[in-house]
Amino acid sequence: MKKILLLGSGGREYTMAWKISQSTITHQLFIAPGNGGTHAFGTNLPFGYNDFDSIIGFARKHSIDLVIAGPEEPLVNGIADRLSTEGILVCGPVAQAAMLEGSKSFAKDFMQAMGIPTAAYRAFESRQIDEARQFLHTLTPPYVLKADGLAAGKGVVICHTLTEATDTLDAMLLGEQFGQAGRRVVIEEFLSGIEFSVFIATDGAHYVLLPEAKDYKRIGEGDTGPNTGGMGAISPVPFFNESLRHKVITRIIEPTLQGLRQRQIPYRGFIFFGLISVAGEPYLIEYNCRLGDPETEVILPRLDEDFLQLCFDIANGQLGSSRTALATAQAAATVMVVSGGYPSTYQRGFPITLPDTLPRDTHIINAGTNRQANLLTTSGGRVLAVTSLAPDIRQALQLSYSTIEHITFEQMYYRRDIGYEFL
Ligand code: AMP
Repeated sequence: MKKILLLGSGGREYTMAWKISQSTITHQLFIAPGNGGTHAFGTNLPFGYNDFDSIIGFARKHSIDLVIAGPEEPLVNGIADRLSTEGILVCGPVAQAAMLEGSKSFAKDFMQAMGIPTAAYRAFESRQIDEARQFLHTLTPPYVLKADGLAAGKGVVICHTLTEATDTLDAMLLGEQFGQAGRRVVIEEFLSGIEFSVFIATDGAHYVLLPEAKDYKRIGEGDTGPNTGGMGAISPVPFFNESLRHKVITRIIEPTLQGLRQRQIPYRGFIFFGLISVAGEPYLIEYNCRLGDPETEVILPRLDEDFLQLCFDIANGQLGSSRTALATAQAAATVMVVSGGYPSTYQRGFPITLPDTLPRDTHIINAGTNRQANLLTTSGGRVLAVTSLAPDIRQALQLSYSTIEHITFEQMYYRRDIGYEFL
């Protein structure tokens, strides 16, 4: 019996727990802290994923065989280092490797050194504010400004005027709005194209290419309004053809692994490549040191492999060779159902009513939910993700949308146009 500890509380971790539950490896799953749905697959624990002492204490006391980290924050803060020091197996990169996500300037320098196609950029610190302002004057709009550190997805600001860009620069370098994350700023060239995401599982030596995805970040239909954590996703990505796949592998994925090895940075976990296709040429916008949310809600349901075995192989450095993961030919779509007001302020604690029955290939994934006794309530901005599998994206979306009509909670909101460019 393998004892597994999964860290996280969102729709991503629900999906991982669901996929782990299908493993042929006999196991017992614990989730720290989990959400209102994850108890279906294991035991929710009363401490969070940033509570390192409780995580280590629990893992030691219960002889946990593998810890799987969902979110970036504990990874960037060194949970994998702490667990490894304790001799506990972990699927997730050490802090030095998680810098690919934890510092945008580190990531950009790495990309540039490895010749990976990316937007031209310069990084500035607070003391270089005058230089940074002058640099803005040499560019044409729109301006892309990025707080260097982790900023919960809110660290990138795209400005359409020089005044707006200068104000944002001042707020980042001098103000409090972005905290420590903004003390260093990356200013980069704006790339115009279509975004998509590619994921690998890697043990540093080899990698498994997972299904790709496209997510919808803006709150409003037609990709308008502020950025969110993600309002929906689809997989596969219709324009991710053989030629683009080949370019992504040879120009981006392989140089990344080569760069990590050259720098002797060990990497055991997932890498999420945030990409943009500019007239068919892939550019790397960013790295994430973990799987995406809501992308996980469409890529794992398509994965035709034992996910828990994959996590063990990553952690043990036993992938053996590089390959493409087995995936169903079915398409997957997920639609996020969120609290009204998100991504700004919103209320929590509303009771959720779910449909009594679901189509066979539709799954309601809990994200920001809480369960007390038998009452499921809202506890976050992104509340549920409704994922469906079908022969094509259109049908998968239809299944998810018809299910959402039978979900109710006060002030619920969702985008009705996920996947719109491909319908
Ligand atoms: P990130 O937080 O790095 O994912 O960036 C958030 C979003 O900002 C990305 O998904 C893109 O939509 C946009 N973005 C970031 N960098 C650029 C760029 N150089 N050109 C155009 N859009 C960008």
